[in-house]
Amino acid sequence: MSETGSKAIVTVPAVAVIDEVRDEIEDVKTFYFSFEDPAVGASFRVRSGQFIMCTVFGAGEFAVSLPFSPESDRPHLSVRQVGKVTRALHDLRPGDKIGVRGPFGNGFPFEEIKGKNVIYVAGGIGLIPLRSSIVHVLQHRKDFGRILLIYGSKTAKELMYRYMIDEWKKTEGFETYFTIDNPEPGWDDRVGFVHTLIAPASVPVKDTVAFVCGPPLMFNAVIGELGKAGLKDEAIVSTLERHMKCGIGKCQHCAIGRTLVCTDGPVYTYRQIKTLGEQI
Ligand SMILES: Cc1cc2nc3c(=O)[nH]c(=O)nc-3n(C[C@H](O)[C@H](O)[C@H](O)COP(=O)(O)OP(=O)(O)OC[C@H]3O[C@@H](n4cnc5c(N)ncnc54)[C@H](O)[C@@H]3O)c2cc1C
Repeated sequence: MSETGSKAIVTVPAVAVIDEVRDEIEDVKTFYFSFEDPAVGASFRVRSGQFIMCTVFGAGEFAVSLPFSPESDRPHLSVRQVGKVTRALHDLRPGDKIGVRGPFGNGFPFEEIKGKNVIYVAGGIGLIPLRSSIVHVLQHRKDFGRILLIYGSKTAKELMYRYMIDEWKKTEGFETYFTIDNPEPGWDDRVGFVHTLIAPASVPVKDTVAFVCGPPLMFNAVIGELGKAGLKDEAIVSTLERHMKCGIGKCQHCAIGRTLVCTDGPVYTYRQIKTLGEQI
């Protein structure tokens, strides 16, 4: 463990035990965990928007967001199986062990958004990195203006955290807009790509910040609509995903131009993203 200012960072993998595994959507599971050493657990403080490096012993290590609210949730990860390491994680059961290094990265700018309207726009599993911020903002409802969640996926069964969203909707004034790409039996809400919901939602512009997370095509279309609505580039925030190895700014694996996503990011404003000169 090392100290950076007041933050305790686990720099070598600390062993954590999987307490519970929850099936979310196809190929995505949530893993609740606790640290084997309670002292590590007590000092493991995260900011919304940060990430960890998760070791699956015998398989490898990968970067993963921290979707839990540091204030109120049990530590957990929501992971899509895409390759060797994430598939090995999906094979784990309660009682099995993983390694955790981190937390790393800058996190979302909470103090700067206090008092503002907050728009969350997510596509598919892009809701995972936004989850902790949504929970935080809803828990501090009175500190914010309008709070909107605009969320879409290819099909209804690919919408993440639907059971949680039902709970979140009980918060007064939380506005939700959902869509799926094509009509399907049993779906009586909107149909079409997620960016088509920006105009009907009459998104606020003044004193507003928008958090956008999802696949590149969706991201670019949403940015276009938010821009048309009048949001400035610096009022749009997103997280970048790049292959990571060290997580601490040494290996340069996640470099884009002069920025290192692991230490300077993964949270950037759209104004910053534009200067990186690389397609998101
Ligand atoms: C900061 C950060 C946060 C992340 N948060 C989450 C999360 O909360 N949940 C989650 O499921 N995944 C998340 N990811 C992605 C996750 O790290 C990768 O899916 C994982 O590394 C895949 O490892 P693997 O060995 O299973 O697959 P690999 O064999 O490494 O990759 C399988 C396929 O996925 C592609 N791929 C792998 N990693 C990335 C990446 N970072 N960007 C684009 N394509 C990639 C590969 O090119 C390959 O086609 C995050 C990544 C970053 C950098």
